[in-house]
Amino acid sequence: MKIADYHLHSRFSLDGMQTMEEACSKAIELGVSELCFTDHLEFADNYWINYADYQRSIEKVRQKFNNQLTIKSGLEVGFDKRAQPQIETYLKDKEFDFLIGSMHRVEELDLFNGDFFKGKEIRIAIHEYFQALLERIKISDFSVLGHITLFKRFFKQLGVNVSDFVWSDYDEIIRDLLQELIMQGKGIELNMRVPLIDLDFRILRLYQELGGEIITLGSDAHHVRTMQVMKEGFEALRDSGYRYYCLFEKRKPIFVHC
Ligand SMILES: [Zn+2]
Ligand SMILES: [Zn+2]
Repeated sequence: MKIADYHLHSRFSLDGMQTMEEACSKAIELGVSELCFTDHLEFADNYWINYADYQRSIEKVRQKFNNQLTIKSGLEVGFDKRAQPQIETYLKDKEFDFLIGSMHRVEELDLFNGDFFKGKEIRIAIHEYFQALLERIKISDFSVLGHITLFKRFFKQLGVNVSDFVWSDYDEIIRDLLQELIMQGKGIELNMRVPLIDLDFRILRLYQELGGEIITLGSDAHHVRTMQVMKEGFEALRDSGYRYYCLFEKRKPIFVHC
């Protein structure tokens, strides 16, 4: 089976701590045969990747690791209502193999620094997050929706326990979200940055039940230390009944056995 990591950051991301070369060497060591760099394009951080530098750097590792690793060029584009025109202008004349669309902020409120959760009951906050996701995916350009269950990363700092939730409470909004993605020919990703929870498996099942087929897997690693999670991801995918996953080339999905 081919192992492909389709969510990976390098030093082209503000928070990336590995060079492309280090990531590629580690991937080979881990038995990964294809990877896609998906560095951040984040308007709120005023962070626009220099396309020429990025492509040059990717070309360099492609040449260096030729025959050992297939290397694709992608981005993780942070949804941003305000910056929609700038994002569209940026993407218009550039060629990428793959785009992850991710929500790191809801209406200017950052999830990472906790602003979004302030003064809200957590169950309501998660509902608002899904509602905002549904609105953003209708108008954003991307290949797969990134880390749908991102909020689970903040449970510890918010002092909530994963067992406090009844995930079926979100089935309706999640179904709407997945149906919209399927209708638009867009996919989801299985993000392995932090351990999977019941909700991740629930989403995998729901997506398949609804006829969704486009799914990628990614470590979301910002450092070589956290790249070793891919095998576990593929196991989870197979356990959930998937027989195929996706690679991308020039924004088109390629289905391969998992
Ligand atoms: Zn992200
Ligand atoms: Zn990421």
